[in-house]
Amino acid sequence: MKKLILFGPPGAGKGTFSGQIKKVAPEIVHISTGDIFRENLKNETSLGLKAKSYMDKGELVPDNVTIEMVRERLNREDVKKNGFILDGFPRTVPQAEALTDITEIDLLLLLQVSRDIIFKRILGRYGCNKCGEIYNKYTLPPKVEGFCDKCGAEIKFEQRADDNEETLKNRLDAYEKNAKPLIKYYKKRGKLKKVDATDTLSFTEDDIKKIIEI
Ligand code: AMP
Repeated sequence: MKKLILFGPPGAGKGTFSGQIKKVAPEIVHISTGDIFRENLKNETSLGLKAKSYMDKGELVPDNVTIEMVRERLNREDVKKNGFILDGFPRTVPQAEALTDITEIDLLLLLQVSRDIIFKRILGRYGCNKCGEIYNKYTLPPKVEGFCDKCGAEIKFEQRADDNEETLKNRLDAYEKNAKPLIKYYKKRGKLKKVDATDTLSFTEDDIKKIIEI
């Protein structure tokens, strides 16, 4: 049972890497705070409404809102039994401190990529509306154009609302501002592991097992 954090700038490939981890540890629970916020936004819940203005601008949703949402999720039975991959949380030191109060993690995987790659990945990124599989217009198109490899549904290039150049700049600024103290926090606790994420799709299952130490 592993408790992992995936950390890295937008476009580092956290979603893709989570999928690769799930292949070698299928029971582990993937928790993406961005996905939860987007789901709430779509369903127009009060949480979604609270998060909307921040997400539209590429700014962080306030810590108290985000922490309560994650606390609730981490207290469920599936997580307690099977462990988790936190994708997109914590993003600030207060979030990290709150997480430490909730549970002790095993590892923070820091996914490292160049700025060039980040821009390509983010501005070309889209997903299947049906199953969530991730594609990229430039680097990772579906095998048959217009159809999802995984579930066969029809797909078209439709960006996430916050995947535009202006918002991306804000999101990268937010990342850079918060990353340093957060990395320091986990390094001090002996939990930090760096991963070159330029081409994680070339990793074998054994590579992934080694990285997550199972
Ligand atoms: P992501 O999909 O991880 O890039 O997240 C999309 C957006 O959701 C971010 O730009 C934030 O507005 C919000 N968000 C996701 N995770 C967090 C977090 N841990 N703290 C604050 N805001 C978050």
